[in-house]
Amino acid sequence: MSDKIDICSLTVCELEKFICDMGEKKFRARQIFEWINKKNVREFENMTNLSLILRQMLEKYFYFNRIDFLKRFECDDSSIKFLSKLDDSNIIESVIMKYSYGNTVCVSSQVGCKMKCKFCMSTFNGLVRNLNAGEMCWQVYLANKIAPVSNIVIMGSGEPLDNYDNVIKFIKMINSKDGINIGQRHITLSTCGIVDKIYELAQENLQITLAISLHAPNDFLRQKIMPVANKYKINDIIRACEFYFEKTKRRITFEYVLIDNVNDNQEGAYELLRLLKNFPCHINLIPINEIENADFKPSPISKQNKFMQILTSCGKEVTIRRKLGKNINAACGQLRNSYIKKMGDSN
Ligand code: SAH
Repeated sequence: MSDKIDICSLTVCELEKFICDMGEKKFRARQIFEWINKKNVREFENMTNLSLILRQMLEKYFYFNRIDFLKRFECDDSSIKFLSKLDDSNIIESVIMKYSYGNTVCVSSQVGCKMKCKFCMSTFNGLVRNLNAGEMCWQVYLANKIAPVSNIVIMGSGEPLDNYDNVIKFIKMINSKDGINIGQRHITLSTCGIVDKIYELAQENLQITLAISLHAPNDFLRQKIMPVANKYKINDIIRACEFYFEKTKRRITFEYVLIDNVNDNQEGAYELLRLLKNFPCHINLIPINEIENADFKPSPISKQNKFMQILTSCGKEVTIRRKLGKNINAACGQLRNSYIKKMGDSN
């Protein structure tokens, strides 16, 4: 199998090239892409509009990199988290969140993560490997079988801009009219702020929403909770965001986890305001989900409200994210970690 190509990770253009090289008609590529990405078929024998000879040829050169549904967990607030098993037995998690405007699936971009944010479970055991485009697409297809997906947030485990090429390919495949066709404006990519990649993303001519995990109003505090802040300064992130806005005209979201007595005092809110006051953006405050082995506690409601009020009183558009999936360990990486730990304990 090793020299075969994973057909689930190919765009229509890539498929066209292979198909033409095989001496077949170009339109066959679209048919194959549709079987996989619209009808979610993973056996060549079921691609009934292809000739037997073509199917046999495909069998020879390609394989289906499987990602299989493993287990689902329902949450009180009706969000659903599910684990999937990859071909190499790694386990990843995805979440379906139900909103009034439709269902959003939160997709993982890596197995684990190397960014080492102090409050995030995904990163506790480091990065295992990148996910390829097909493995990201299939998280959406598996979710879509549970509840029809209208929006995607690339906010699960992993740092999407650390897996840039695969993530861009994923966005193009998921947006393709020959596949599930989720509109670019319905896709959000969340990053801890890899500055050079934000510039690169701005040039891709995409209409996706960019979300920045800021979590602190200055570099000093940010470095304490996000090691990536030692490499990229907040001002450079903001400059990259301005460039992104200029190029795409898409308003950026800044995410800010509220951690009791760490980054939730009123001074911090004013500092954040100074930082973002001239920038057309949305601020998403997120009461932190408590995780094992860390002292971080969510801000009390009164402090959350005060923080929000300071920002809104100066005209900023701010939301506090309602807690999703608390009883199912919905914070990044929590469920995968607890599942793997349980399996380990029972072996
Ligand atoms: N690496 C990307 C995307 C994955 S994390 C990023 O940093 O944006 C997705 C979001 O969940 C980020 O904003 C992250 O900071 C946040 N997050 C991680 N752990 C959390 C926790 N324990 N409680 C609340 N939000 C958390």
